[in-house]
Amino acid sequence: MPLTLISAFRDNYIYLLETGTGLWLVDPGDAGPVEHHLQAHGLSPTAILCTHHHADHVGGVVHLARKYDLPVYGSGDRIPALTHHVREGRVRIDGEDVEILEIPGHTLDHVAYWWKDCLFCGDTLFSAGCGRVFEGTADMLFDSLEKLRHLPGITKVCCAHEYTLANLHFARLVEPDNAWTRARLADVEKLRARGKPSLPSTLEGEKSCNPFLRCSEAKVVEAARRWNPGCGGTPLEVFATLRRWKDGFTAPSDRRGET
Ligand SMILES: [Zn+2]
Repeated sequence: MPLTLISAFRDNYIYLLETGTGLWLVDPGDAGPVEHHLQAHGLSPTAILCTHHHADHVGGVVHLARKYDLPVYGSGDRIPALTHHVREGRVRIDGEDVEILEIPGHTLDHVAYWWKDCLFCGDTLFSAGCGRVFEGTADMLFDSLEKLRHLPGITKVCCAHEYTLANLHFARLVEPDNAWTRARLADVEKLRARGKPSLPSTLEGEKSCNPFLRCSEAKVVEAARRWNPGCGGTPLEVFATLRRWKDGFTAPSDRRGET
């Protein structure tokens, strides 16, 4: 299935997915670049899928929904122009069964869309990182990431921000000896130097280098306890420690941080 990444703002990606029966826009935070792409390729979208209500994910929804007369899928009451409220389970979009996963933590009503091998996970799981805890708790975000971690390894992680390089610098700090992290860092440095996206990644790859999915690994536990000697060492405590550690970390490649 052709998957297109449309860049928006400084580091957002809006995904365009051709399913064969439809053309879905995921998290259109900005209508401008989407319209430009659609016009240039003579395309008409059939649905908008929103992972959560933050402005950089929904800013273009009203304009695009009106212009193309589109149904808007999402959870909670803060998605503009919402027509289809989704919950955990299956929803049919353009004749396709899409799995909805409720993944609170970054926001309380954050959802992911899983269709075939594509996972649209918004600001919950990033490549080599995870979202900030804005509305929920570290426990919630941990459970949400556990839910995603158990999907098949071939799953394409279609997250909404190009944070990979900064995340890998943090991952390397946590696990300096992790060969997967070093290899991925070298690959992503090359991709970014050529202006190419580092996404989508695969879940299998994430499980090898994303410290937030590796909270049971001895080296990650050790690193968390070094940074916070009060950390008890359970996967949840390690996760909460890593998240706090990362909140105060600025990578050499990124002085702005996460949103
Ligand atoms: Zn967000």
